[in-house]
Amino acid sequence: CKIDYQAPEGLLADRVILVTGAGDGIGRAAALAYARHGATVILLGRTIAKLEAVYDEIEAAGGAQPAIFPLNFEGATLKDYYDMAETLDREFGRLDGILHNAGLLGRIMPFEQYNPELWEQVMQVNINGPIWMTQALLPLLKSSPDASVIFTSSSVGRRGRAYWGAYSVSKFATEGFMELLADELEHLGSIRVNSLNPGATRTAMRKTAYPGENEMTLRTPEEIMPTYLWLMGPESRGHNGERFDAQPPKA
Ligand code: NDP
Repeated sequence: CKIDYQAPEGLLADRVILVTGAGDGIGRAAALAYARHGATVILLGRTIAKLEAVYDEIEAAGGAQPAIFPLNFEGATLKDYYDMAETLDREFGRLDGILHNAGLLGRIMPFEQYNPELWEQVMQVNINGPIWMTQALLPLLKSSPDASVIFTSSSVGRRGRAYWGAYSVSKFATEGFMELLADELEHLGSIRVNSLNPGATRTAMRKTAYPGENEMTLRTPEEIMPTYLWLMGPESRGHNGERFDAQPPKA
């Protein structure tokens, strides 16, 4: 846990970094933090107005000009991911990082009541979409001298918990895919792949999962950014196939 990490100002200078689910919550905070530390950020998400607001915030703060990439993991096909890779190749020629952050909670309910449509939807957004997007973007990652791929996990992706249904299973799959990809790319030495569990964080998703909770007791997305910066930046080089936490474990 690198919650006390102090990122140097130009940590991500000259890096091109893709953030999924960049319009809200943790993804929004990460896009802003990466841009503040010098990165050219590609803002991917499904609600364009939210992405535009983040774009404007980055510009107003004097960050490198970001790019908006509208994409909904629910309807996207393999072709969309390969078209996306082609566009990014034309615009930037390489990719130095991906923060796989977009996520869907589904519903917290007994498995007996879970239905296959919702299950599919959650798996599509949380793991299947990100997997095929990663495949399409691999050549661009290989063009980078030092690339970091971060998959967002959850405590329920490390230990199963009652009623968390497809969300929990999708996060277990995320950990598994992270490990196999890290192992496959290890010999390259230039791409690291790790997972990061943000821990309880004050966002819309957390509010939906825990409606009765006093949200003021939770860390904000901004407060957990040190680990997000460390794992995206050059100082985490050499860490591959590991599981990280953005907050200290609860006492
Ligand atoms: P939010 O719900 O606040 O944000 C999720 C983001 O993902 C939104 O920007 C959303 O877009 C985007 N998204 C959702 N569905 C799609 C889709 N089909 N296609 C493209 N983008 C999509 O969640 P958080 O910020 O809380 O969560 C971020 C990540 O952290 C998730 O992976 C989550 O599982 C994980 N996490 C969060 C925890 C927490 O306490 N907050 C704890 C553990 C893990 P839009 O704005 O358009 O809805």
